[in-house]
Formats: sequence, structure tokens, C-alpha cells
Amino acid sequence: MKCPICGNEMKKGKVEAGTTGSITNASTSVKWFSEEELKKKFMRKGINLRINGEGYYCEECMKVVAIFDEK
Ligand SMILES: [Zn+2]
Repeated sequence: MKCPICGNEMKKGKVEAGTTGSITNASTSVKWFSEEELKKKFMRKGINLRINGEGYYCEECMKVVAIFDEK
């Protein structure tokens, strides 16, 4: 996978979302929002993603590009 910013070959890895809350009331969520939705302040509609996605790291830009599946 090539970096979309600099074109450098990226390192393949994994992206994981964290879990918040207590043991009895823990929740984890990852969502994707379109740019149009991000302009809204309320009632944003996102796409729920699977928590673990494929990720690629660019050592040049120090950025991660991740590919998530919709839940
Ligand atoms: Zn890069």
C-alpha cells in the first residue's frame, strides 16, 4: 500500500479502538463520518465500523491509513 500523501510504501499493521467504562458497563465504538456529516453540530449519522481494521503506517509522514469494514 502506497501512502496517499507522499507515495512512500507504507507499513502494514492493525488499528484497534480502545474500550471505555467499567468492566460491567464497557463500550467500544468506531465510526466513520462523511465530510458533510462532520459539518453538522447535532444528529450526525455515521457508519459503525468493526473495531479492528487493517492499518498502514507511513514512516515518512508519520501517519496511519486504516481500512475498516462496516459492522
Ligand atoms: Zn507518506
